[in-house]
Amino acid sequence: MHILRSLRELNLMRKAGLLVWEAHQLVGSMIRPGVSTLEVDRTVEAFFASHHATPLFKGVPGDKGPFPAVCCISVNEEVVHGIPSRRMLKEGDIVSVDTGCRLDGWCGDAAYTFAVGRLDPEVQRLLDVTQGVLELAIDLMSKKSRWSQVAEQMGAYVRDMGFSTVENFVGHGIGRDMHEEPQVPNFVSPSLQRNGDFSLEPGLVIAIEPMVNMGTKKVRQHNDSWTQSTSDGLPSAHFEHTVAITDQGIWVLTDPPGVGPNEHVPVVPVPEVKQQRMVRAGRQ
Ligand code: MG
Repeated sequence: MHILRSLRELNLMRKAGLLVWEAHQLVGSMIRPGVSTLEVDRTVEAFFASHHATPLFKGVPGDKGPFPAVCCISVNEEVVHGIPSRRMLKEGDIVSVDTGCRLDGWCGDAAYTFAVGRLDPEVQRLLDVTQGVLELAIDLMSKKSRWSQVAEQMGAYVRDMGFSTVENFVGHGIGRDMHEEPQVPNFVSPSLQRNGDFSLEPGLVIAIEPMVNMGTKKVRQHNDSWTQSTSDGLPSAHFEHTVAITDQGIWVLTDPPGVGPNEHVPVVPVPEVKQQRMVRAGRQ
């Protein structure tokens, strides 16, 4: 059973969310060819430390030892849980950076996929669609009464765009801890249908984090027991926000400063499904 948060608690979570937003701004300013993913991670680690925030990912237990970094950094065909390394980014790469922190006992969590220089147009479309499906979910949060109604449209949207939704990983409730109830799938999963559905009501706080693959939805785990890549080696993108429902409307807690309930402004417009269908039809 998930916990509903008071407005006082949401205001505290907003402080953590703002810090996570700021960390991603810092990451965005660093992304360019020649930068290593380890440099990105160390910068975020120093940023959280300077604000007396505790990173959420470092030390999470795994099969072959705890996660060693503050950010999960996944490049190109890597889907999630990539370990920062000396690998240098190069022109045309995409890099998914997922990070979170706890500030004064409350958590925030967000992810962005950044472009390194100019992208192949189809890879750019993958980024737009992944961000688009997150924006769609945020928009539907105020219009639907159950998560399954949102998840169904998310799955259909990605399908209609010709891509696939990763099913091995889902979003989550968030509050005092990074991973709380409920599970938040980006598609209608069997467990969601069975007993995992939940109502969209004031006080709910969830991290919504669609992962979208250009090819197959299947993923494989690397020998490090953390990194997950697409089975076919095609690129994958990941966007995430921590989102609350309030009496005043939807509040994206990892939005930029000054943005309150009902004021979420998408970074990119949601691509039109109809238009993309025509593009696909034209290719066949
Ligand atoms: Mg998350």
